[in-house]
This record gives sequence, C-alpha cells and structure tokens, in this order.
Amino acid sequence: MGRSAIILFVALSTISFAQNTRPAAASHDMPPLQHFSPDRIDKSLDPCTDFFEYACAKWIKANPIPPDQAGWGTFSELAIWNIAAIHHTLEEAAAASNRTPAEQKAGDYYAACMDESKIDRLGMAPVQPLLDRISALTEKSQLPELVALLHQNIRPANLVFTDVQYQGILFGVYAQPGFDNAAVMMPTLDQSGMGLPGREFYSNQDERSKQIREKYVSHVAKMLKLTGETEAQATADSQAVLAFETELAKAAMEIVARRDPKNQNNKMTLAQVQAMTPSFNWNRYFAAVHAPSSQEYLVLAPTFFQGVEKLVASEPLEHWRAYLLFETIHLLAPFLSQPFVEENFSFYGRVLAGSQKIQPRWRRCSAGADIDLGDALGQAYVAKYFPPESKERMLRMVKNIEATLNGEFDSATWMSASTKQAAHAKLAAQIDKIGYPDHWRDYSGLEITREDYLGNVERASLFEFNRRIAEFNKPTDRYDWNMTPPTVNAYEDPQSNTINFPAGILQPPFFDPSQIDAVNYGAIGAVIGHEITHGYDDQGRKFDAQGDLHDWWTAQDAASYDERDQCIQDEYTQEVPEAGVKQNGKLSAGEDTADNGGIHLALGALQKDLKDEGKDLDSATDDGMTELQNFFLSYANVWCGELRPELAHTAVMTQGHSLNRYRVDNVVANMPEFAHAFSCHAGQPMVHAKQCRVW
Ligand SMILES: [Zn+2]
Repeated sequence: MGRSAIILFVALSTISFAQNTRPAAASHDMPPLQHFSPDRIDKSLDPCTDFFEYACAKWIKANPIPPDQAGWGTFSELAIWNIAAIHHTLEEAAAASNRTPAEQKAGDYYAACMDESKIDRLGMAPVQPLLDRISALTEKSQLPELVALLHQNIRPANLVFTDVQYQGILFGVYAQPGFDNAAVMMPTLDQSGMGLPGREFYSNQDERSKQIREKYVSHVAKMLKLTGETEAQATADSQAVLAFETELAKAAMEIVARRDPKNQNNKMTLAQVQAMTPSFNWNRYFAAVHAPSSQEYLVLAPTFFQGVEKLVASEPLEHWRAYLLFETIHLLAPFLSQPFVEENFSFYGRVLAGSQKIQPRWRRCSAGADIDLGDALGQAYVAKYFPPESKERMLRMVKNIEATLNGEFDSATWMSASTKQAAHAKLAAQIDKIGYPDHWRDYSGLEITREDYLGNVERASLFEFNRRIAEFNKPTDRYDWNMTPPTVNAYEDPQSNTINFPAGILQPPFFDPSQIDAVNYGAIGAVIGHEITHGYDDQGRKFDAQGDLHDWWTAQDAASYDERDQCIQDEYTQEVPEAGVKQNGKLSAGEDTADNGGIHLALGALQKDLKDEGKDLDSATDDGMTELQNFFLSYANVWCGELRPELAHTAVMTQGHSLNRYRVDNVVANMPEFAHAFSCHAGQPMVHAKQCRVW
C-alpha cells in the first residue's frame, strides 16, 4: 500500500469499475501485439497545432471504444494480449491432470468462476451466512466482531491503492511503512466505506452530481430488493445508505490534503484511537482479526474516525444493518448470480464509466484469478513471455536514465550542494524492480475448490487480509510487489524507495526489442523516467533515501522547487471539455511533474546512447524521420486512446493523472526539443510561451 504513484489509473484488475480489455474470439488465438509505426500519423495535420491529434487521431478513428469498454487505447490493447495469455494458462490448468499445487488452485479457481449455471442456480445461498450475521446485529456493541468478519471475507474493490480512499467496508485496515521510520510496517487505519468514487460525489450540487446520486440511490434499492427486501423497505434503506455514506464523506479527508504525507502521519496509541472513537471497541476488533498488539497505530485521517464515532453513537441499528448489507452485496456482487452481476455493472459500468455492455465472463474470471492468485499465474506468464534478455535490456535503460537524473542534479542551478548530495544519495539507494518478484508468494495455506466460487473468493480475501495483518510491526520488505506480473502499469513507492515495472508493461509497443532505441526510450523510457521522477515530485521529494518522511531540502531549495512546481500546477489547472469538469492542478501535480520529467530524462539517456554510437538526435533513421521525431511519436503512441465521457469525468475528479491528450500536448509544449524536432515556432499551440520544468 502506501502512496504508490502509478503510471495510469485504469488497472486491469479493477473488475467492478473500469475495464480495459476488449472482446476477443473465445479461442486461444492471441491477439497481435501492436508495434510502433509512423503509419499511424495523420500527415494532413500539423504537429505544432495539436501533437496528440497528429499522432493519434487516425488511430482513434480506426479503433473506436468497444461496447464493453469504458475507454480504449494502446494500454488496453496490451492488456487484452496479457489477459489472453492468462486465460490460456488458466484453461490449461483447469484441464490438466497431474497438476502442481499452483495449477490446481489456478485451474479450479477459474473453473468454479466459469460455472455460471451453478452460480445462478445457487443464487443468494453462498452469501446468506454473511447476510444472516448482519441481520443478527441487535446491539452496537457487536459491531467490532461483525465488521472484523466482513473485513476478513470481503476484499476491497481494488487492491491497488488510490488517493481517495481504501475501497472496503467502513474503514480500511492494513500495514504500511511508518512515515518516521519506513523500515518497520505500521498498523494503519484509513478512510473507506463510500460506495461512490469520492467524497465530492456526495456533496457537489451540480446537475450531473445530483443525477449520479439519484441513480446511486436507485441502484442501492435494486440491490437490496435482490436480497429479498420489499419495495418499501428497499426504498427506505437506500435513502438511509446514502445518508450514512454522506456522513462518512463529510468526515473524510479531502483528496488534495491527502496528497500531503504529513497530513496522514498521525501516530496514536491504541488508547488514543479508542478515545477518538469511544463507541467502537478496538480491542475487540483487533482480537477478532487476530492482530498482534502494537505500541502505535497510523491513523491516516483522524477526522474520518470521528465521523465513524458519530455514526456508531447516533445512527439507529436498522441503518447500520442496511449499510453493512448493501456494502457486502456491493463488494461481492461480481461473484454472485446474474442479477447481482448485472445490477452492479449497470451502475458502476454504465453510469460511472459509460460502458455499454459487460465483458465476457472468461475475461472477468481471468482478471479475478489475477487478483486472487497473481503470483501463481505470474510465474507461468513470465516463463513464457518475459525472457532474461528483456530484463537485462530494461535494466540498462533504467541505469542510463538514472545517470541522466544524476546529471540533472549536478547541473541544477537552483539546488544547493547539500540538497544535491542528498538527492544523489536517495537515487543511489533506490531499488529497481523489473518484471516479477524474486520470491513468489506461497499460496499453500489457501484452499481453492472447483465447487465453491464465492468460498474461493472469500478465502482468498481472508488469506490476503491475514497477510497484511501479519505484517504489523514487522520489518518492511522492500522487495514486495503491489502489482501482479501481467499488469500493464508501473509504480514508484517513496516509502520503500523502489520503482516497479511488472512484466506486463514490458511488451510492445512499450518495450520492443525489434525497434530502435529512439522508439524504446520514447515509450518505456518515458515510463521509467516517469516513475523515477515520482521520487522527486511534490510528494516524493519529502521522503529520504530510507523512505522516511524527513526533509532533506534547504529552505531556499524547497522554495525554488515550489516555484517550479507552481508553473506545472497552473498549466494543468485547465478546463477539460471532454470530461465536463475543470482539472485541479494541485491534485495532478505529482503525475504531471512525473510526465514532464520522465520524457526529459528519457531523452537525455537516448542522446547519450546515440553519441556513443556516433549519432545524434537529428540523425536520419530507416523510416525517413529523425531519431528525435521517432522518439516523440513513440511517446505519443503509447497514449493514443480516449475514455468515455462518464469515465473521463470520474477520472478527472478522483485521481491525479491528466487525460491522455494532455499527457501528450502539455508535455511536448514544454519542450524546446519538440519544437526543434518538428520545426514549430513561438506562438504555435505546441510551443508554450512559459515552458514549465521541474526536472
Ligand atoms: Zn505516476
């Protein structure tokens, strides 16, 4: 967990919310991998007017968003390819005899998930024991044990950390490195429990927000009716759920405040936590989840827990039952019978993301197996698709880009010698993780059967929950991963001081052994640079070489940093017409800084490699363009694609990444090298009058 900064937010593993894979024939034919090609360019357009259009418009027109997708782009094409690879492995494992334990688990998990007729026949039965426990809530003193039971059996909607909230019931509990001492994992309490994507969704008064709330209440009522409630009861309960969650939202920390780690660094003893929430017995909660006792707890959002206290003290029992019942059904809906799956998709897929139809079941089951048994599947994926040569070449690129950043530190006129020294030390201490973990997770304690799909999911949730609880007060494992190997994504984690590139993104068109260096540096090179830069963005720069929240900047250098950062924030505080909302440059500052720094560093590394080969950025390549033109076109190519307006709206409001168009246009317009590559001149849209640069 922690403040992992990721390259894009639409994760492959996000089943219930946004998917980025598209229909394919239900055969084992792998879709073709996409390679960079200058043929994608629309030469009738002017690169200096809108580079994203120049590089991507032709492709976007030829590749409309498939009906079962909320967005479509280069990332999605590779994600499809990866999931087809996982699917292949799962089908083999489901059918094989003499299976290894890993094959048994993966194969039976998949087979149980694919047995839709059985799942439909069983209906509510598999989830009934949990619902009965909720119905049996007769006094609030029973809440700690009940919430503990639900936390153990129901995994959050997304295992990848988001800036907004932990996506589980009521509050989140997990371990993360301490802010003051990252070497030790601290028990952490986080805000959670809101069914809408963020606190603003409960309070904004614009028409669209009001409409979303109306549709949400109607969705909650439909889900409750599916559990057997009468129309009248479900209607009343749905209003109660909205009111309940609105209280959580009011108490929750605002998303921009949450980006500042010092706001989250609230260490408390159990007595202090207890004093904050006198109506909720933490001793009993922690006893119920078998957590080791701790001297201190990290409470990321104290006001949120004051809100929880208010709800425990004042909300009637029937509202608590309604809230817990809905949240349980909401989070387990993807694993239940057709009516639950459909209604869940109807709100989270259609209303919030704009998808028109749900993805085929085999793909949902493959993605689910990746979440619950990621390392078991990852081993097979890596063995087939990630040769050691790829890892070696990738490491060489990473080292070259790190060398470029060291050079940036040295030549920075705005940094003092002592800050430069600390920056060098931090970069030297960073661990570069490429492809897959050194030690695979052992699932031997997890029982998976062919007969019991929901049971598999619940046991996998318990397995993961217990793994996190067991980390309380233990040394931090800097070699642990937060993403599975087939994931098309990457992240930097300032608390472990690591950059992490799953094998899933180390495929064409990101990483392509068949292409020249300029193309690879423009694509995966810019991603590498992006992740490294996160260690020195407005969040990352607050952590030192050990991952501790410790200020290593002189006051003067920090002020110079802030000034440069402000330029980026102002530039990205812009209307986003396709999302129908204004972007907050304070929210996206870290990602925008990483985008701008990432491509700059990758370009520096390319320049050095070319020099070693006796070439330069203006040298001609086989495709008739210069090295530099190839570099920028390859950069834009990985961002070709777009989101449906519904998802674009949700995305701009809830997470820090700018939409693809701006990840290309704002970035290149800050670069004199881009103007040089395409002979753009001052006054044209792709040459900003004030060119921002942090790194
Ligand atoms: Zn990022």
